Amino acid sequence: MTLLDDPAPTWSSWDELERDALVCTKCALAAGRTQVVFGVGDQDADLVFVGEGPGAEEDRQGVPFVGRSGSLLTRLIEGIGMTRDDVYICNVVKCRPPGNRDPLPGEITSCRPYLEAQLELAEPTVIVTLGNFATKLLLDTKEGITRLRGREFPARSGTAVLLPTLHPAAVLRGGGPTLAQARADFVLVKRALTRARS
Ligand code: URA
Repeated sequence: MTLLDDPAPTWSSWDELERDALVCTKCALAAGRTQVVFGVGDQDADLVFVGEGPGAEEDRQGVPFVGRSGSLLTRLIEGIGMTRDDVYICNVVKCRPPGNRDPLPGEITSCRPYLEAQLELAEPTVIVTLGNFATKLLLDTKEGITRLRGREFPARSGTAVLLPTLHPAAVLRGGGPTLAQARADFVLVKRALTRARS
């Protein structure tokens, strides 16, 4: 059973969930954060993006994907005729890892119930994992993103599909060819949404 099939939500409303997440001290990241970066957008969205964890700007503003990676994510969303308001965006860990290091396994485990509950409450039909951390967690795999992107996986007991794509920060580093791959993945996202709505 993967996180995506896990049935029982611990929280029955977004308000309760967010209230608990905002004061969470379950792992060491709590000590270094400015604030918890819970999630942003339409909590009823068909399309949910899951990133890795907040960076410096996200920690400052309390909103996911507002730095340089965020600008690119916004452009990719707009590229398929949508806006950030149409989707929900969150991360695997809700607090900034110091120095933008990768989240540690224990931190991911502590934060996992919040992500699980976000997916449970949003009930999306399409989940897009941004980069390795979100993809490995949600697909319960060790396979890397470059082999998984561009493909569709069943999720949430067949009620949703999961599409892994490159993390926007990796796209910024990779330039043109990786941007083309990300754009191609977003076309698949659009198709999956259209199919789910028909
Ligand atoms: N990178 C992430 O994975 N998440 C953010 O919110 C910002 C940058």
